[in-house]
Amino acid sequence: MKVKVVEEKCIGCGYCQSTCDDVFEVEDVSHVKVDTVPENLVEAVTNAIEGCPTEAIEEVK
Ligand code: SF4
Repeated sequence: MKVKVVEEKCIGCGYCQSTCDDVFEVEDVSHVKVDTVPENLVEAVTNAIEGCPTEAIEEVK
């Protein structure tokens, strides 16, 4: 699994970082720290995608 944050949509709320801080880091906006999400973090990242209030996190296919 690979993900990206669409910066124009991100409001910097911090939810993704609080859900999975091994993958997301929020400064002004969130960015993804890893190339490929490790298998053991896929569930947490899926929760971040579903919980992001602006749907700014997208899976990269
Ligand atoms: S949860 Fe969504 S809006 Fe909030 S910081 Fe993460 S990417 Fe941005």
